[in-house]
Amino acid sequence: MVAPHAVYVKNRNWVDYSPSVAVSWAMKYICKVKKDCSDRLHSTSWLTATSYSIKVIYQNLCDQIPKVNWHYFVWNRYTLPKNRVTIWLALHDRLKTKERLHRYGVTMDETCALCGHDTETSAHLFFKCHFSKECCSMVLAWLGFISSRNNLFTLLKWIHRYCKNSFTMKVVYAAVASTVYQIRKARNLAIWEQFVPSIACTVKTIQVTVKHRVMSIIVRNKGY
Ligand SMILES: [Zn+2]
Repeated sequence: MVAPHAVYVKNRNWVDYSPSVAVSWAMKYICKVKKDCSDRLHSTSWLTATSYSIKVIYQNLCDQIPKVNWHYFVWNRYTLPKNRVTIWLALHDRLKTKERLHRYGVTMDETCALCGHDTETSAHLFFKCHFSKECCSMVLAWLGFISSRNNLFTLLKWIHRYCKNSFTMKVVYAAVASTVYQIRKARNLAIWEQFVPSIACTVKTIQVTVKHRVMSIIVRNKGY
C-alpha cells in the first residue's frame, strides 16, 4: 500500500508534501531537508526533474559558498591527514598557544616552551623561535629552497608561485605541514614531558615522514 504522505513516487519525482504530525521523525527530517534545499536553490524545479543527481544538487548548493584561497595548501594527498588538521588550524590561527590560553584565563604562563624567552604566539612558535626557524630552514634546504618568509600563509603562497612543477609543490606543502606538526609536537613534549627534542632529531623525523608518505602514494599509484 502506498502511504498518502509518500515523498518519493514510482516515476522518481519528489512530490510536494507537508508532513502531518503523525509521521515518523525520519519522514519529517526528509521533508525538512527537501524544503531547505528548495530554499537555498531558490527553486523547486529539482523536485520534478526527470533525472536526479546528488552530485549536481551538491554542486549547486556549494556554489553559494565562497571559495577559499588556502584549500590547496591543506587538502593535499601527500600531506598526512593528522598534519592537514594541524596546518588548517595554524592557517586560521586557531591552535591553542600559551598566549591564547592566557587570554582565556587558562594559564598565567605565556612563555614559549621551546626557547623560554618570548611570548608563545603562533607567529613566534612556528617562525620566530630559534627552534622552529632552524627546523624550517633545514627542511626547506633539504628540498632545495631558501626562504626568509616569516609567516605560514606567505610562505605557502611563495611556494605556490615559485614551484613550477605540481609534484614538487605538493611535496613541499607536505613538508611544511609536517614541520608545523612536529614543531607543535615538540612544544607539547616540552610542556607535558619537560623534554625538548633536538632540532636534528625533529628534522630527521620530518624527512622520514614525508619520504615515507610520498613513496607510499607513488607505489599505490603504480599498483605495486
Ligand atoms: Zn620560542
